[in-house]
Amino acid sequence: MAASATPEGAVERIVIENAAIATVDAQDTEYASGHIVVAGNRIESIGAGKAPEGLTNVVRRVDATGHLVTPGLVNTHHHFYQWITRGLATDHNLFNWLVALYPTWARIDEQMTYAAAQGSLGMMARGGVTTAMDHHYVFPRGSGDLSGSIIRAASEMGVRFTLARGSMDRSEKDGGLPPDFAVETLDGALAATEETVKKHHDASFDAMTQVAVAPCSPFSVSTELLKQGAELARRLGVRLHTHGSETVEEEKFCHELFGMGPTDYFESTGWLGEDVWMAHCVHMNDSDIEAFARTKTGVAHCPSSNARLAAGIARVPDMLKAGVPVGLGVDGTASNESGELHTELRNALLINRLGAHKEAALNARQALRLGTYGGAQVLGRATQIGSLEAGKLADLVLWKIDGIGHASIADPVTAIVFGAAAPVTLSLVNGKPVVENGTLLHADEDAIARSTREQAQRLARIAAES
Ligand SMILES: [Zn+2]
Repeated sequence: MAASATPEGAVERIVIENAAIATVDAQDTEYASGHIVVAGNRIESIGAGKAPEGLTNVVRRVDATGHLVTPGLVNTHHHFYQWITRGLATDHNLFNWLVALYPTWARIDEQMTYAAAQGSLGMMARGGVTTAMDHHYVFPRGSGDLSGSIIRAASEMGVRFTLARGSMDRSEKDGGLPPDFAVETLDGALAATEETVKKHHDASFDAMTQVAVAPCSPFSVSTELLKQGAELARRLGVRLHTHGSETVEEEKFCHELFGMGPTDYFESTGWLGEDVWMAHCVHMNDSDIEAFARTKTGVAHCPSSNARLAAGIARVPDMLKAGVPVGLGVDGTASNESGELHTELRNALLINRLGAHKEAALNARQALRLGTYGGAQVLGRATQIGSLEAGKLADLVLWKIDGIGHASIADPVTAIVFGAAAPVTLSLVNGKPVVENGTLLHADEDAIARSTREQAQRLARIAAES
């Protein structure tokens, strides 16, 4: 176990006491006032009342009075590079929005993806995200080491991270949506993806960086890239990620080109399985949901992005009832400018109540579970993170709920889900502080604000000139 050690070689402990705790374990165990002992990078003990007496090597004691402690939030779908193309094509649906933005996206370089990753990661971390992911699928020729720059930004921020190495090889000339100059070749995409997995993927229990194989979507990748991408992922023992069933236009596209709907198409290319998770899954009929449940294919539910692009409402209550693993995703910030995951808990709950199940659609605890344990499940890390249990990794958040925004709400979980986004007093990732009193500990927010603005202006200038 990669624990920090004192000169005597003993594991250092952080003790958190007097907290309301929502463990999000299988029984939804909660404590009105409890303790958590962190030893090295793991949770050593958790329970009601004060911490056990006689603990050695305690380097920090936290009086968490007025706070709710939950597992750290897990984001399951994002596109970091979009941080520098926010606020554009604001009144478009998915296909029109993509066509408007592809020419700009095709001009990104390593400097831009690094700054955009810092912006995306910083905004999520200060809002309680402890595990981030980035689905990056735009690799213009000669743009540098984009994957390396993104992984470096995550490592510097101190968060746990999954890079979904994306790709596109179906451009306009092949009936796809992206312009010809924005795509890779089939062989080039597969080779670069394999290289990224071999260079960066860590399969260990306490891994900070993992890599998934992630062709972008049915309308931007070839059938061969889906099939060979799935084979590659299974040969390397990593997970598979893509976009699926996002809009009615995508459904129509699949019927016209492949003679079947998106879920049948995914199944025919090897893309249903317990090692797969898919963003959106808005347009799913009963048999699609049954296929996901049967194969344990996971879903990244992105309610704000689906609303922003008028895609529709994913049938999350039906998916959960059928046994489909569901996590939450911010999605790229060109279609969800806020880039925060804690507000997605609230939006998931509210938007699903506009669907068929009305007020019975989701409750506050189900929303919290989607953003924590559900996310860990779809990223394949449920034995390691996503709930607060002895032996699991110490990724947790102290939400301040005794301030003006929350003090008058009696139930702590209701306070952070139904109420305003609660301030983060402390977050730990792998047992180490990443946020204190709402401030990032390992990055300078003002410097990130400046560099992301500069890179956004630089990209806009280059795109306008080309
Ligand atoms: Zn997306």
